[in-house]
Amino acid sequence: MPDSFLDELRKAFRADALLIGDDIDARYFTDMAGVQVTRPRAVVRPRTTEDVSRLLKLCHRMKVPVTTQGGMTGLVRATMPHNGEIVLSMERMNAIEEVDVSSGVAIVQAGVILQKLQERVEDEGFMFPLDLGARGSCTIGGNISTNAGGNRVIRYGMTRDLVLGLEVVTPDGTVLKGLRKFIKNNTGIDLKQLYIGTEGILGVVTRAALRIFPAPAERQVALCALSSFGDVTSLLKLARLRLGGGLTAFEVMWNEYYRLVIERVPGVASPLPTHHPFYVLFEASGSDAERMRADLEALLEEAVEQGIILDATISTSNASAAAIWRIRDSSVELSRALSPRVGFDISLAIDRMEDFANRIAADLRKFDNEAFSVVYGHLGDGNLHVVVHHADVPDRYTQIQELVYGITGEYDGSISAEHGIGMLKRPYLKLSRTAEEIETMRTLKRALDPHNILNPGRIFAV
Ligand SMILES: Cc1cc2nc3c(=O)[nH]c(=O)nc-3n(C[C@H](O)[C@H](O)[C@H](O)COP(=O)(O)OP(=O)(O)OC[C@H]3O[C@@H](n4cnc5c(N)ncnc54)[C@H](O)[C@@H]3O)c2cc1C
Repeated sequence: MPDSFLDELRKAFRADALLIGDDIDARYFTDMAGVQVTRPRAVVRPRTTEDVSRLLKLCHRMKVPVTTQGGMTGLVRATMPHNGEIVLSMERMNAIEEVDVSSGVAIVQAGVILQKLQERVEDEGFMFPLDLGARGSCTIGGNISTNAGGNRVIRYGMTRDLVLGLEVVTPDGTVLKGLRKFIKNNTGIDLKQLYIGTEGILGVVTRAALRIFPAPAERQVALCALSSFGDVTSLLKLARLRLGGGLTAFEVMWNEYYRLVIERVPGVASPLPTHHPFYVLFEASGSDAERMRADLEALLEEAVEQGIILDATISTSNASAAAIWRIRDSSVELSRALSPRVGFDISLAIDRMEDFANRIAADLRKFDNEAFSVVYGHLGDGNLHVVVHHADVPDRYTQIQELVYGITGEYDGSISAEHGIGMLKRPYLKLSRTAEEIETMRTLKRALDPHNILNPGRIFAV
């Protein structure tokens, strides 16, 4: 990067928007695992869309690469600056501009923290349904760029389903003003889709129009123990039939996950014995508490009569619902307790999941007698998380990645259900996408970012 670029930055931005040299705090070049890369030469912290546009015009003209940072909670090493990249931090574009309950729309800047939006909308009796463990740090721009999923996808869909309109700055600094507040818009190519789930390689999201929904007055949670994976899928079918749109989460936990969370994560208690082969947590939401309770009890009775479940408990208060959710939400703490470990975020057809999990367990045992896997996930969305604990020996991390992604490819699965590809999963993209699909992605990137300045190298190399 030429020194003249820093001079241009100083001319274009006020001092409070610019960090250079030793003024750059380590958090801008340290990832979630605590790994640090080289200090970038500049961090730009815009407040407005015009600032972002001015920055990208300059970078485009001087061919300086940029990495965009939201809350930096992504798990695929995408936001660390390297190879002379400067940082574009969205942290100061954090205004919630409008909450319009009559239209069911919120307009926000991309740096708004997810939890701040959830809380603001709740004040109006509404909800923004996207919810994930990183809610206190991740940003709406990051959620959009990764098409985040989370706990309520079965009812409300992924982030893509919650976006009505976007304002985006393209790599040459052009502002695309697509901040529309309505669902129906069949007027040619739906350009916003280019920027949802594409990990910031085609443009910078600056503002979003998002769908919000009336908050359900009541949420009830059931936890069930089951003896086989076949029973788990039978319960999913029954819950969908009996609860319809009231079913807002359906999470599965294999025994090893459930037992180890209870044993190793402080403060997590089990309302059921811990020896059953499978556990399912499901949540129902609605406006009539008594009717929901009756529906849930009837559903569980039917499941017991049909021999689908062995044991079950239903939450009796918000506190008991939270205690049940804590079992499923403690996956990050459990994962840390299983170090050294490799984590996976995989999608596959529900009817292949049991075989897939058994195959991983069997193949791990063949080459690492310390290794074992714990499996859990958003079953209703076809999404499994697998955490593999392994022996602390060189190259084992990569060997296990190759093993699990290889099996995922064989089972026609996706190597990334939620978290994206970034740098971490780039070598394995070809297991889930065809050569022609990857080449089409490259064609798009070359056309929209001819100097390859935005998040270069993420997802694929140009
Ligand atoms: C404890 C924990 C739980 C998690 N649970 C889930 C889960 O259930 N579901 C799920 O989907 N993910 C989950 N994640 C992953 C992560 O939180 C999501 O990917 C989240 O959407 C990332 O948001 P962020 O603001 O932190 O983005 P960052 O990590 O900052 O960035 C992610 C990507 O988006 C790009 N980007 C960021 N902002 C913009 C912007 N304004 N314009 C263009 N590109 C941008 C970045 O360059 C990068 O490529 C979890 C992470 C943690 C740590």
